[in-house]
Amino acid sequence: MFFTDPARAHPLIQRGDGVYLYDVAGKRYIDGTAGIAVVNVGHGRAEVAQAMKEQAESVAYAAPNIFSNIPAEGLASRLGQLTPGDLKYFHFVSGGSEAVEVAMKLARQYFYDQGYLDRHVVLSRKISYHGATMGALSISGYEGRTRKFKPMLLEYPKVEPCYCYRCPFGLEYPGCGVKCAHDLDTVIREVGPGRVSAFIAEPVVGAAGGALVPPPEYFPLIREICNRWGILFIADEVMTGFGRTGKYFAVEHWDAVPDMMTVAKGLSSGYSPMGAVMMGQKLASAFQENPFEHVLTFGAHPVGAAAASAVLGIMERENLASRAASVGGHLLAELERLLENPMVGDVRGLGLMAGIELVQDKARRTPFPKDLKVSQRLSRACLDRGLTIYPGSGTAGGAGDHFILCPPLIMKESEASDVVDILEDATLNVYQEVSSLL
Ligand code: PLP
Repeated sequence: MFFTDPARAHPLIQRGDGVYLYDVAGKRYIDGTAGIAVVNVGHGRAEVAQAMKEQAESVAYAAPNIFSNIPAEGLASRLGQLTPGDLKYFHFVSGGSEAVEVAMKLARQYFYDQGYLDRHVVLSRKISYHGATMGALSISGYEGRTRKFKPMLLEYPKVEPCYCYRCPFGLEYPGCGVKCAHDLDTVIREVGPGRVSAFIAEPVVGAAGGALVPPPEYFPLIREICNRWGILFIADEVMTGFGRTGKYFAVEHWDAVPDMMTVAKGLSSGYSPMGAVMMGQKLASAFQENPFEHVLTFGAHPVGAAAASAVLGIMERENLASRAASVGGHLLAELERLLENPMVGDVRGLGLMAGIELVQDKARRTPFPKDLKVSQRLSRACLDRGLTIYPGSGTAGGAGDHFILCPPLIMKESEASDVVDILEDATLNVYQEVSSLL
């Protein structure tokens, strides 16, 4: 196999059960990241496998540009009961990056068909991750992942992030008046409103920011600004969707229904690649006369749709969104223990999406030198101890280390406490190691 980082050991996983993964040597790992915020219903769910088997036996594939299929129709009806506002139209794809690409193209064609030929710019934020493909990467504010590909990417401007721990304006909430939200208005005026089609944001920033939760006014203000300029608001719920933050969709924490929502990961809990773009009546009906110029071979995949429906059945039966809220509260409270460690600068999050920022000097919030790769070191130390975490970097002017925890939503409180026990030991170990290098 070709690994993105061949120098790193990749333990060979043999099976999964609940919040645990086991490698071929029998070593057990707590899946503190549910893969990459994917396996919300946990590993080893036989009923999902059974639904996929039955679907594959009946019909595994039907071209999405010619046919509809029963599981995709069923999934759309099921999702329609869960989505906020009028987001009742679903276009199924096979992952998060694809969902984002499709949303960008939908926004473009929506305006193009109305004669607004210049409206193609998709605005996003300076700390964000929207995917690995060229369009999605272009609108991602994640220097570590974009740097080497810059000449190939779209040069769309970016808005300041909503990042209270390192406020880009040097202000403090609530005195700041949520200036970061108003920055969208500033950037729209700079770019020219006649050129902007959409603004995309993760309701809680995941990989790029380490669970950045906005204050309550932020998204209602964003909604208002988008309305003011007639710009589409896309909520990228690829990581936050399907119960992760304690509600089915994170935007439900605030009064701000988007025009489109992109989802993937938890939709099928990783039992099959699956994603979707969700949209409201205004957009869906605009494409009645001018079909969307787009096709993906694996769109609306019957087996993926069957898996997703089975996953949603489990989520509803086991009330996993509210579980994420309660166990997430316990996890966040337990994580406060880490603040005893001199390199743990901030603990934050919502539901079962927690972020921890690692700093060299807590009082000044000074980041570690980039070369020390502190979050990567911690990730390795955790893996050695049987825990996965999701490391990230670059939020402090290129430097800055953080990691997120986003375990399966079925996690028990005792398992969340085990996660923190391992983390306490690993962070102490890494702190001692990097202190000797400074
Ligand atoms: N959007 C967000 C918010 C994500 O977190 C990710 C992946 O982590 C993506 C998009 C891209 O999804 P995928 O890796 O399934 O293409």
